[in-house]
Amino acid sequence: MAGYTYELEAVLNRADPLARVFESAGYRFFLVGGVVRDYFLKRFDVGQDLDATTDARPDAIRALVSELADDVWSQGERFGTIGCIVAGHSYEVTTHRAESYVPDSRKPTVVFGDDVVDDLARRDFTVNAMAIDMADRSLVDPFGGEADLEAGVLRTPLEPEASLSEDPLRMLRAARFCASCALSPAPDLVAAMTAERDRLEIVSVERIRDELQKLLLLDDPAAGLGLIDATGVGRRVPVVGGCDGWESAARRLRTLPTDPAMRWAGLLSALQVVRPDLRLLKFSRDLDRAVMWLLREAPELSTADLAALEDRRLRELAGGCPAGRTVEDLLTFVAGLRAGDGLSADDVDQMAARLAGLRGREPDWDDPAPFFSGLEVAEMLGIEPGPELGRAMNWLAGLRVAEGPLDADTAAARLQDWWAQRTRE
Ligand code: ATP
Ligand code: MG
Repeated sequence: MAGYTYELEAVLNRADPLARVFESAGYRFFLVGGVVRDYFLKRFDVGQDLDATTDARPDAIRALVSELADDVWSQGERFGTIGCIVAGHSYEVTTHRAESYVPDSRKPTVVFGDDVVDDLARRDFTVNAMAIDMADRSLVDPFGGEADLEAGVLRTPLEPEASLSEDPLRMLRAARFCASCALSPAPDLVAAMTAERDRLEIVSVERIRDELQKLLLLDDPAAGLGLIDATGVGRRVPVVGGCDGWESAARRLRTLPTDPAMRWAGLLSALQVVRPDLRLLKFSRDLDRAVMWLLREAPELSTADLAALEDRRLRELAGGCPAGRTVEDLLTFVAGLRAGDGLSADDVDQMAARLAGLRGREPDWDDPAPFFSGLEVAEMLGIEPGPELGRAMNWLAGLRVAEGPLDADTAAARLQDWWAQRTRE
């Protein structure tokens, strides 16, 4: 088809060699999903990963892409998907799927098909159910995705209740695409989400977590959070479920950086889930720690008079930061929460300036050096390693937090004073 922009032509030309391999072997090859949608949304990224669909079966796909690919992965083969890198770009090529409906299974069985229209019919939304036939570059849009994008509507290709029931994760995807593509859900989609929300139960927490995180990481997830709230789907999300406050979450998330830990903590704090069991969402250890840290430390800073916080408290906060995080991150989080709630963040700025000053004066701020090693302290006090030495080391650590860096003579004198007093008692 003529008339595509230069950018889309460039992507089609890039995909051509791979398409030719399929066509030479007698198969059809379509680019599908996000690339077509984003083209019509004019937010096209020439380097973006491409999804393709074909009538070739997975083993044939694997053999065909191997002719050109630098790397091939087949973890998704059972569901028909082979991933590969060709000339530096990544592709996921999936066998057409035909109707499959398995009510209570977490892992629906997949029925492969021969017709691209059947495949598009079982995709999540009409705006994602468009394809470009690489043989003649024609648009395949049997469900009116282009018109729906034009009208700003999110709808399912077939009947929404059946679609959401087949894969309830689509409820969260609906929220994400409403927010990311500025679409309004069709009324029958909203009704179906409300009716089918309990079905979210059959979806694995990993899929729920990943999809919700994609929503949380949008610049402005408000429309999606609003839909999750309005349909009651939010009450079925593990860990965060059963809570109100999605509205205020939306306000706060907009003003937080698009950092996973901050966005999750922003959501959980708005929903007043203060002690979440994040193991239920199978977070990575780093994410788990960072979220718990923000939830633990932020309440104090959100309400405290920051100007009155002592240096010693700031050093304590610095000492409690998980790996890779700083007190500044905590402040950024607090400032975001406050801004979202319409509160002033002036004293947060002052605090940031103070932290910069402390950092300048205390070069070992992020990784405070203990004054002495255990062996040195044992020698200074004339004691053997044991519980007493442990106490002395703890006391020195406390001294470091209370007073910051000291020169070795001062620290040694303070240690001797403490020790003298202790042995006198
Ligand atoms: P993004 O830009 O966020 O990656 P995308 O449209 O590429 O958007 P993916 O999750 O990568 O989204 O999925 C690729 C395509 O696969 C979608 O456009 C859609 O056609 C189809 N799809 C993905 N997940 C589902 C699902 N759960 N149910 C039905 N179709 C789906
Ligand atoms: Mg994609």
